[in-house]
Amino acid sequence: MTPDKKNDMKLDLNIQPLSSWIKTGAEPLVIAGPCSAETEEQLVATAHLLAKTGRVSALRAGIWKPRTRPGEFEGIGSIGLQWLKRAKDETGLPTAVEVANSKHVEEALNAGVDILWVGARSTVNPFTVQDIADALKGVDVPVMVKNPVNPDLSLWIGALERINNAGITKLAAIHRGFSSHEKSAFRNEPMWDLAISLKTHAPNLPMINDPSHICGNRELLGYIAQKALDLDMQGLMIESHIDPSVAWTDAKQQVTPSALVELIERLTLRKPEIKGTVLQDKLGELRNQIDKIDDYVFQKMAERMQIIEKIGNYKKENSITILQVNRWEEILNKRIPYAKALKLSPEFAEKLLELIHSESIRKQTEIMNKGQEGQQPQEHLTHA
Ligand code: PEP
Ligand code: MN
Repeated sequence: MTPDKKNDMKLDLNIQPLSSWIKTGAEPLVIAGPCSAETEEQLVATAHLLAKTGRVSALRAGIWKPRTRPGEFEGIGSIGLQWLKRAKDETGLPTAVEVANSKHVEEALNAGVDILWVGARSTVNPFTVQDIADALKGVDVPVMVKNPVNPDLSLWIGALERINNAGITKLAAIHRGFSSHEKSAFRNEPMWDLAISLKTHAPNLPMINDPSHICGNRELLGYIAQKALDLDMQGLMIESHIDPSVAWTDAKQQVTPSALVELIERLTLRKPEIKGTVLQDKLGELRNQIDKIDDYVFQKMAERMQIIEKIGNYKKENSITILQVNRWEEILNKRIPYAKALKLSPEFAEKLLELIHSESIRKQTEIMNKGQEGQQPQEHLTHA
């Protein structure tokens, strides 16, 4: 392949359905277990409680923990694999661990681990992902790939492609939220649009939501889990510990197995639409209405852009600058209260105006530079 010619948004994954590698009967599909395997007793006792709920399809546990700072608990290491083996033998639950290099892959496979996952701090690094992928060549094991720490869809897609190219077809994505400088109620911003975008690029790729690492606390778990199911994600990965108050890692976000069951029971499973039903007729009718409104919005946008062109020509003839900050402020000051009155959120209104405004500026720049091509680089002006 020639350098940088790849269309990074085209995803052609060869994937087997989720039901080919994990029990999907219990609704919703739940993978649960402690953030870290700490002691044999803690892991095995948690596994028994989780198995007894009848709601859990696989047992997760971190053995090698990627920690942000050195000196924190970095996982119990290989010995934990033997504990997982015992937990599986006694409960029948298949097991899942995070792998961060080829050595982890080898050890986990040798110890009979059923499912592997690539953590958020590994997905960010193509060298790490490739190292893991190389160790997976010729192996038939399910692999789940967490989104990268930073909100970069291509990195997530790239990691899935590397694993898939190694011959792994039992593949899933895990949505665990993204780092953000914005202060929010979440440990990691869900940025649902990124997860939806991945689903749009690879409709047959199962997606599992990890509310534990999105929330960073117990209180919001149900809210995020419900939203994930409503967005048609195929399952949940939730951290569960026999006694979260004394957990060695992620204590604030883990729940006891009984709290996990309560959480699952409060979730509403909404059915995907079924063709030929009254429900679908109604949905179809409402979607028709939306389509008509969207057509109208586009038509009006085109009209707006025609006026922008006139303004651009006028500014060019009279040597007036494209951007006038006062005008932008005036637009915002007039429209935001109007949007509020129409019950549109101010954030949405501002984003929409910004998008429209930056396209208008782009158009005017084009007009201004007509006849001077090659003299200036093409630039996008935004208000970000
Ligand atoms: C984990 O699952 O415990 C973990 C370390 O998650 P993440 O890679 O999403 O931070
Ligand atoms: Mn954790």
